[in-house]
Amino acid sequence: MTEFPEYPYNEALIFDSHAHYDDSKFDGERDYLLSQLPLHGVCGVVNCGCDTRSSRSALKLAEEYEYFYAAVGIHPENIGGGTVEEIERLSSHKKCVAIGEIGLDYYWVSDNKEQQKELFSKQLEFANKINKPVIVHDRDAHSDTLELLKKYRPMGVVHSFSGSPEMAKEVLKTGMYIGIGGVITFKNAKKLPEVVKMLPEDRFLLETDAPYLTPVPYRSKINNSAMIYLTAKKIAEIRNTETDRILLTAKQNAKNLFGI
Ligand SMILES: [Zn+2]
Repeated sequence: MTEFPEYPYNEALIFDSHAHYDDSKFDGERDYLLSQLPLHGVCGVVNCGCDTRSSRSALKLAEEYEYFYAAVGIHPENIGGGTVEEIERLSSHKKCVAIGEIGLDYYWVSDNKEQQKELFSKQLEFANKINKPVIVHDRDAHSDTLELLKKYRPMGVVHSFSGSPEMAKEVLKTGMYIGIGGVITFKNAKKLPEVVKMLPEDRFLLETDAPYLTPVPYRSKINNSAMIYLTAKKIAEIRNTETDRILLTAKQNAKNLFGI
């Protein structure tokens, strides 16, 4: 069942830069949930595609809900889930704001690194050509990801950032943003609080990766964009500032990056 944490502000300040509401975990309650989110502080959502099928679903949700935007792309775990040419066609939709999620994942599959790098490179090159930002997935592939970001220098965000403060510095140098999600509320977040401390005000985004990575204390529940309030609260604690300031800054950063 859907849970909404408290939201103490009048103005809707939550911009979720990364979610997957086309996921089958939302079947049956998707319409109810998406009609409720704006009542719980949510003003914007970028729904990310992982292959051509889910990229089409992301566009469809963006047509149905005014506060929704779509990213289209092929995720490294979904090689074979469509061609870059199909993604190119889908990207011309007026509510497509980014190419994603794209990147490298050596955690789930590591025997096709060259194929992953080729697919990632092609999509980076294409995003640069059409002047759109990218939403980058990097799991256990920090050095290869950084190498390609340095090579192509795209606009965009490294989502659910899991690297060290040193890597964050390198990512920031390329001009990219860093996405922070529910993991920051986990006890085992290790290096992430250090990263959150050093991020410049104008270079971080908030995200859910819903239905996954639900923040504490709702970890057993399905994630939704309203939960970003809890993520922002934790970030505000770490940075010694106010939660609404974190939400407002992240919202402005997202709008700047995605040209909304
Ligand atoms: Zn994702």
